[in-house]
Amino acid sequence: MAEPVTAQALQERVDGFLAGHDPAGDRLEFLRARFDAGLAWVHYPVGLGGLGAPRVLQPVVDQRFAAAGAPDNSPRRIGIGLGMAAPTILRHGTAAQRARFLRPLWTAEEVWCQLFSEPGAGSDLAGVATRAVRDGDGWLIDGQKVWTSMAHQARWGILLARTDPAVPKHAGLTYFLCDMHAPGVEVRPLRQATGEAEFNEVFLSGVRLDDELRLGAVGEGWAVARTTLMNERVAIGGAALPREGGMIGVLARTWRTRPELRSPALHDEVLRLWVRAEALRLTGIRLRQQLAAGEPGPEGSAMKLAFAALTQQISGTEVELLGAEGLRHDHWRADRPAELDLIGRGPTYRWLRAKGNSIEGGTSEVLRNIVAERVLGLPAEPRQDTGADWKDLPR
Ligand SMILES: Cc1cc2nc3c(=O)[nH]c(=O)nc-3n(C[C@H](O)[C@H](O)[C@H](O)COP(=O)(O)OP(=O)(O)OC[C@H]3O[C@@H](n4cnc5c(N)ncnc54)[C@H](O)[C@@H]3O)c2cc1C
Repeated sequence: MAEPVTAQALQERVDGFLAGHDPAGDRLEFLRARFDAGLAWVHYPVGLGGLGAPRVLQPVVDQRFAAAGAPDNSPRRIGIGLGMAAPTILRHGTAAQRARFLRPLWTAEEVWCQLFSEPGAGSDLAGVATRAVRDGDGWLIDGQKVWTSMAHQARWGILLARTDPAVPKHAGLTYFLCDMHAPGVEVRPLRQATGEAEFNEVFLSGVRLDDELRLGAVGEGWAVARTTLMNERVAIGGAALPREGGMIGVLARTWRTRPELRSPALHDEVLRLWVRAEALRLTGIRLRQQLAAGEPGPEGSAMKLAFAALTQQISGTEVELLGAEGLRHDHWRADRPAELDLIGRGPTYRWLRAKGNSIEGGTSEVLRNIVAERVLGLPAEPRQDTGADWKDLPR
């Protein structure tokens, strides 16, 4: 059996890598070599960017590379790929799919988007109507997706489609990796409350995908999608941050540097939010330690729920603290951002964008149902569609 990888061994490995690769040299070459050395995501298998090491050791590697001034792989640009597509491909993909997709995903050469939501299927995701029909050795896809973040940047999309309408809704789904450059894929911008168009409508008209782009078995799409959804909640709610690393850091800095804005009531509020943010951050660390032992469980839903409430309260307090200054949103252009960035923007942008946190990745109402049923063991909400074929459900 191989020796277990330790933090010390990893540091030495990074130092050895840095001795042979100039962080100031070609960015892409550096990132590709880092992947090939198993120093991308250390908990992934050898040959797929990792070393089979415990997931909790990843920060050791990231910190060492950051201290050396190494380029990063634009995590804010490839968040959907890193947080959702990668763990799903790793778990459900064939050896060929893993080898084809994980490296350019990690190096940010290929951006991913998530083609799940539809006009009639968001919270009830298993109700999707986008059809995938057999066409020789491939599939023909027809349908419409919506709220597709970063589709305008994406090279690939994770796609949930219906392959059998004549069975109950969860049973007739299949999961695909959609080529966003294929004929018949049309991406149209949707403008958001912030003014910009970070997400899109995606129309799929006779899009042909080879069977090699199917992820998992035909009819098993729901099980594959559950891996994505579980990871999505952790990716949104449980990002690894240093103390004061997230939105609370912005608020704390304003509080410290602008004494003229302070009031006793806001003092209490800022303190309360700081403590909650720190508690949530530490909970995230614990959750990631649990993850080292397996798949994320329903605790990820609780984390995402708490994160959404907190970001909305923090951004609201920041706007209140800044008064009129906090409401000066001077960026009302329908820009098409290249990455998602809550921290590097103005307070009104943050306040408006944080509204989406309680909707994206599952609404807070639906996550409360998950926590109630699967964490607390409370009775399930009544369901009317159990056992009925998807084609017979009212739409
Ligand atoms: C900023 C942002 C980015 C997004 N990015 C993506 C993306 O990249 N890809 C993608 O596929 N999707 C994306 N989404 C879509 C998101 O996942 C859906 O909007 C979400 O799942 C809710 O679905 P819906 O909009 O159809 O609302 P609905 O499901 O119609 O819900 C409407 C309301 O009813 C409530 N509700 C529904 N069912 C229940 C229930 N059983 N119990 C209690 N209340 C209930 C909901 O909580 C909500 O308040 C994004 C959304 C946002 C806001």
